Amino acid sequence: MQIFDSHTHINADQFVNDLSAVVDRARALGVTHMLVLGDNKRTNARLMAMLDRFPHIYGAAGCHPEDALQYDSKWENALRKMARHPRFRVIGEIGLDYHCTVDHQLQWRVFEAQLALAEELGLPVSIHNRDAFADTYAILREHQAALVGGIMHSFNGDAQWAEKFLALGFYLSYSGVVTFHGAPEVREAAQATPLTRMLVETDAPYLTPMPYRERMNEPGMTRYTVEYLAQLREMPAMALAQQTFNNAMRMIESGKQQTNEN
Ligand SMILES: [Zn+2]
Repeated sequence: MQIFDSHTHINADQFVNDLSAVVDRARALGVTHMLVLGDNKRTNARLMAMLDRFPHIYGAAGCHPEDALQYDSKWENALRKMARHPRFRVIGEIGLDYHCTVDHQLQWRVFEAQLALAEELGLPVSIHNRDAFADTYAILREHQAALVGGIMHSFNGDAQWAEKFLALGFYLSYSGVVTFHGAPEVREAAQATPLTRMLVETDAPYLTPMPYRERMNEPGMTRYTVEYLAQLREMPAMALAQQTFNNAMRMIESGKQQTNEN
């Protein structure tokens, strides 16, 4: 089995002393490939070191809406520089988070500035959306024509929102949230998502899937989300793993041409 974890933070402090073991445990569970997301100087530096060390790791970076106050030209230039690496393929996670206290208009500005950067670099985007479906959708709809594509990371909407983001051409990435008892609407969305547009992820170290919720999440646990989704869709886990793997590679490859020209 070959699984692609489309959103993980093994560059977070929690994994610093355990990185090789985490990657080995993931491989043992079939999770061979991952997209690692950097969100500050420290995690970006760790990400770039990982890209040089592990050929099956791809990179993404961006300013999370929680940090919108800190986004400036220095941060933007750091992203441009990272994008020169041949396996840096995605701008993200970027988006809107209305659960945090950061001013909404500031979040919109920083989100749109990074969408413009992704358009300029020809890279797809990884979108963070928390309690902000309508505004996230409205902004992405405006940028749809100019973007090469994107991922709704840890998609946690219902089937109707799924349909709207799918219509914008986005992939929907399902995390451990789809296994949670309190998320029947996310299961409905996962039922309604075409297999050709579905991705899987951990968002490690967060959102550990059932039945391991008391443990810290890590990329290998994408396996349990794959098995859960396969059961939900009444199909072999192997087939769901392969399909989501192919989708992730297609998404990752869509950001290749431009970065190689830099
Ligand atoms: Zn994340």
